[in-house]
Amino acid sequence: MENSRPKLLMCAPTFFGVNYVINPWMEGNIGRAARDRARTQWEGLRDTLAKLADIESIEPVEGLPDMPFVANAGLLYGDTFIPSRFRFPQRQGESEHFVEWFREHGYRIEALQDSGSFEGEGDALFQPGEALLWCGYGVRTSLQVYKDIAERIGVEIALLRLVDERFYHLDTCFCPLPDGRVMFYPHAFDQDSRALIRERVAKENRIEVPASDALRFACNAVAVGDTLISNYAGSELRERLGDWGYAVETCPLDEFILAGGAAKCLVLHLEHEVAEAAEGAVERGSHVCDRRVDIQGQLLDTGLMNEVLDCVTEGGGSFEVEEFHAGLRHDQESQATVRVVAPSPAKLNTILGRLLQLGARVPEEEVDAQLETVTKDGVAPRDFYSTTIYPTDVRVGGQWIRARGQRMDVMLVVRDTEDGHKIDCTLLRDLREGDRVVCGVDGIRIQDRLPADTESSFEFMASSVSSERRVELIVENIAWDMRRIREREGKIVVVAGPVVIHTGGGPYLAKLIAMGYVQALLGGNAIAVHDIESDLYGTSLGVDLARGANIHGGHRHHLQAINRVRECGGIAQAVEQGVIRGGVMYECVRHGVPFSLAGSIRDDGPLPETHMDLLAAQDEYANLIQGADMILMLSSMLHSIGTGNMTPAGVRLICVDISPAVVTKLSDRGSVESTGVVTDVGLFLNLLTAKLSE
Ligand code: NAD
Repeated sequence: MENSRPKLLMCAPTFFGVNYVINPWMEGNIGRAARDRARTQWEGLRDTLAKLADIESIEPVEGLPDMPFVANAGLLYGDTFIPSRFRFPQRQGESEHFVEWFREHGYRIEALQDSGSFEGEGDALFQPGEALLWCGYGVRTSLQVYKDIAERIGVEIALLRLVDERFYHLDTCFCPLPDGRVMFYPHAFDQDSRALIRERVAKENRIEVPASDALRFACNAVAVGDTLISNYAGSELRERLGDWGYAVETCPLDEFILAGGAAKCLVLHLEHEVAEAAEGAVERGSHVCDRRVDIQGQLLDTGLMNEVLDCVTEGGGSFEVEEFHAGLRHDQESQATVRVVAPSPAKLNTILGRLLQLGARVPEEEVDAQLETVTKDGVAPRDFYSTTIYPTDVRVGGQWIRARGQRMDVMLVVRDTEDGHKIDCTLLRDLREGDRVVCGVDGIRIQDRLPADTESSFEFMASSVSSERRVELIVENIAWDMRRIREREGKIVVVAGPVVIHTGGGPYLAKLIAMGYVQALLGGNAIAVHDIESDLYGTSLGVDLARGANIHGGHRHHLQAINRVRECGGIAQAVEQGVIRGGVMYECVRHGVPFSLAGSIRDDGPLPETHMDLLAAQDEYANLIQGADMILMLSSMLHSIGTGNMTPAGVRLICVDISPAVVTKLSDRGSVESTGVVTDVGLFLNLLTAKLSE
């Protein structure tokens, strides 16, 4: 029986203290840990453990206050010790002392080959009796080290991404127990990791502890035989562990919690039942995979570099910036090579897909794009690539070919023509059985991705003293551009909502049309209805536009307006018959400016021209914006977003809305050409028309 006593390593807290902050628990606690009390608590833990296990100890070292947390020394399997590579310099000094101890005690030392940090048994926990290592990453340990570890250890690697900084090590929120059991705190993990635990461990074998236990380090427990030792366990948790046959012994360790650790952190297992069990087990290895991407551009001043790195982390991966050449002047670009590591090939592909959209390139790009065939009309292969607004090249048959009809959120279909391969941006609904769709991330590159120009988003209403002057400045700039476009016979498209009419902007928009500044108008039923209502009755939604007061019976005006137009057979007919004599729609008809009215569920009537078939409306919108140099989006979230999604890069977008959130959403297409203007649309149109009339 004596042989079965487990061996544990501990380190006395002679020099323990909270001397710096490297986790959220330490915040506000510098100098607050009482060393005497810590010593008493540590001895309590050691004495409790000593009844059940053999305790070895390592000499504490002055100046290394976290050394008592020996779980982070490294990972042991058999007689081999893989030393940690601490993330923070404050703890890096511990490593040499741990390595020395293990060497002196006859262990083989195997340093990790790959770069990245690794915090030992704090993040890597064997499932007792199984050939399985649970591996935490995302806060302290880097994902890539598990590739190396998997190759050495030859057990299954289950990767768990930690997402709550308070549970910065796996052993703070996850405790594997014999007989295939675990207890864990679900919210410390991302959704996929929670799903993985639930898939691997049957319901009756797992305890999902509540925050009230987890935050008192209940999962940071040491299991020895039938005893579970931890800082705390609530009555319900005790009961459930009791049902599993465990006696819970609590050892108060609050002095150590000030530094973010408790029972398990203070102990390193010197033997793992699992290592024996893993002998001869099927080597399943890990699915950790990586790829390099290059990115070039204004990476620093535009925040693009941050965006790239966030994209990797949010996708469940980790990164290493292997090269970075900073542009030293405003006009110089920066260049970076980033190694992206992901827990599975599928996740890597998803991350790379997003990075490509940000303008990154996979350097081994001299590979043809992967093509998959559509098997059902209107349904893409699962791994389809979806486009951005930027010009995109696809490599087919060894040649880079530019996609036609660039727009956002569509698929790339390769067609064989007499002139060779062509790549067509194709809507999901337009995919046909047999179409070959570009999938994955290889053989795709995006050209000229320009970062969003945040400087050009002006909040006129929000800015105080100088607001009037700033409105003038931006309008002056837009007017200048519009003039140039008109002079070269370019194309300006206006997208407008009914607010244009309610705010009294109708006559100004009508004037812009009459002056030749609008080549197409996109809207819904409402802009036309209220414009015609204001022409027929002088009201918009029953409000007298001249006086801003409600008109008796005015609430019927918009329906009467719709009725009159329906009577005439349409807007153009109503203009011809002299029923409509002014306004936005009138000027469109008079000047032959094409318009498209897209229907919605809110529409009254509708007017005969309103497309209630939304697919037809989308097609008409897409046609009308073709060749546009500028699109003025005036206070219609619905139609502006709809239009934005079908507009390629290179078109100047001006988005005017009173709501900053709408402006941000619309101007945040990663395009330098978009300008957001937060202001009243009536005011804006008034100023713009005045500027263009000067
Ligand atoms: P929307 O909510 O998509 O957009 C309205 C936008 O106007 C919002 O983003 C809002 O922030 C902004 N706004 C409000 N006051 C403003 C101001 N003073 N200055 C600048 N911006 C301001 O709604 P929508 O585009 O008006 O309509 C959505 C759909 O509903 C359309 O298809 C429309 O035709 C339909 N609709 C129909 C009727 C009707 O048939 N009677 C009436 C209203 C809307």
